[in-house]
Amino acid sequence: MKRYDVIIVGGGAAGLACAVALAENKDIKILVVDAGERAGKKLSATGNGQGNIGNNDMSIEHYRSGNLKIVEKIACPAVNDPSAEVCRRIFGTLLYKSDGSGRIYPHSLQASSLTDILLRRLKGRGVEILLLTRVVNISNGFIVDCGDKKFAAAFVVLAAGGKAQRQFKTDGSAYKLAQAFGHAVTPLYPAIVQLKTDDGYVKPLKGIRANCFVKAIIGGVCKKAVHGDVIFTDYGVSGNAIFYLSSELTAHGGTVLIDFLPNYPEETLVKTLKARLAEGTAYSDILCGILHNQIARVVLKRAGAEDIDLIVKTVKSFTLEVCGTLGFDYAQVTQGGVSMEDISENLESRLCKNLYFAGEILDVDGDCGGYNLHWAFSSGVAVADDINSKLK
Ligand SMILES: Cc1cc2nc3c(=O)[nH]c(=O)nc-3n(C[C@H](O)[C@H](O)[C@H](O)COP(=O)(O)OP(=O)(O)OC[C@H]3O[C@@H](n4cnc5c(N)ncnc54)[C@H](O)[C@@H]3O)c2cc1C
Repeated sequence: MKRYDVIIVGGGAAGLACAVALAENKDIKILVVDAGERAGKKLSATGNGQGNIGNNDMSIEHYRSGNLKIVEKIACPAVNDPSAEVCRRIFGTLLYKSDGSGRIYPHSLQASSLTDILLRRLKGRGVEILLLTRVVNISNGFIVDCGDKKFAAAFVVLAAGGKAQRQFKTDGSAYKLAQAFGHAVTPLYPAIVQLKTDDGYVKPLKGIRANCFVKAIIGGVCKKAVHGDVIFTDYGVSGNAIFYLSSELTAHGGTVLIDFLPNYPEETLVKTLKARLAEGTAYSDILCGILHNQIARVVLKRAGAEDIDLIVKTVKSFTLEVCGTLGFDYAQVTQGGVSMEDISENLESRLCKNLYFAGEILDVDGDCGGYNLHWAFSSGVAVADDINSKLK
C-alpha cells in the first residue's frame, strides 16, 4: 500500500490551498484525492466565472458558525487587505482588482485561471492528485479507502466540501467520513440561494430586475440589509441582494422587505406624488415613469386604496414572506456542517489526532461576496501550517 505523509480528501478550493501551503515543506509526500474529473472544478465556476475570492471588508459579521472565534482568528486577520496574505501564500505574486462594493477578484477576472495557478504550483512541487476517485472510508490509523484502492497516511485533511450543487460532486456524502470518527454534523441548510415567497403578488413581476434596498426581517428585527438587485421569478425572488440576505432566512424563513426607491425619503415621495395628483395625473398612473410599470401596478394593487401615504409606504416597505429556498442544487454554499464543538483552534479533530478539516465541510458559512472562498483558502492554509509545524 502506498504511504503518504498527508492525504487531502477533496481537491476543491480548501484542499488545493492546503496542498500548496503544505508543499512549502519540500520533504513531505502529499496526495490529493478528488471525486471529480478535474480538481478545482467548483472554484473555476465561482463568481460567475470571475472568481470573487475575498472582500475588502473581512469582518466576522459576515460569517456564521458554531465557533466564530476560530473563524475570526483564521479568516479575519487585522490587516487592510485581508485577502492579500493568504492569497500570496497560495497563488504567489498576482494582481487583483476589487469592484465598487469591495469584492476582490483576480485581475484576469477568470476563476479558472486561479485553478490553473494552483494546479501548476502543485505539479511543480510534486504533489500527486488522484481524480475520479471517491474516498468511501477512513479508518483509525489512517487507511484511506477509495473502493478499489487504499492508501496509508500519517495525517488526513477532510476538505470534501458541503452539499451545495451536487454536479460538483459535493452531494453531502462526505459528512459520514467525519461522523465515522464521532463528529456531529449540525443541521444543514442551502445558503446564498434563491428564495421562494408565499405570495401571489410577485407572479406578475416575473423577469423584472429592480435595484432596491432590501432587508431580512426575522421576528420584527432587521438581521441584514443591503442595496442591490432583486430579480422577480415565478417562484419568488433571486438576484445579488437576495443571495446576500438568504443566509439569514434559509433556516427559519422570515420576511424580505423591499424599498423600491431607496434614494428618496418618504416625505419627498409624498410631496412628488401629491404634486403629480395636483397636475391631474390619475391615481392609476401616479407611479408611471418612477417605477417599472408592472411594479407600479403591483404596488398600487397592494396598497389597495387611493391614498398617497399608503402608496408611498408600500413602495418603501414592500414585504414578501419567505416560505423556502430553491434548495441545495441551486445554493452556492451549505450552512451548517461538521460541528465546531470537537474541533481545535488549528482545525484538528479533538476526537482523533492528526485528522483535520478545512473549508465548507465545517459548520462555517460566509456571506455572498468572497467570504466562502476566503474561508476555504485560509482554513486550508491554517491546517497546512499546523501539520507542517508537527512534521518539522
Ligand atoms: C456556482 C457557485 C459560485 C460560487 N461563487 C463564489 C464566489 O464567487 N465567492 C465565494 O467566496 N464563494 C463562492 N462559492 C462558494 C465556494 O465555491 C465554496 O464555498 C468553496 O468552493 C468551498 O471550498 P471547499 O474546498 O471546501 O469545497 P469544494 O470547492 O466544494 O471542493 C470539495 C471537493 O471535494 C470533492 N469530494 C467530495 N466528496 C469527496 C469524497 N468522498 N472523496 C473525494 N473527493 C470528494 C469534490 O469533488 C470537490 O472537488 C460559489 C459556489 C458555487 C456553487
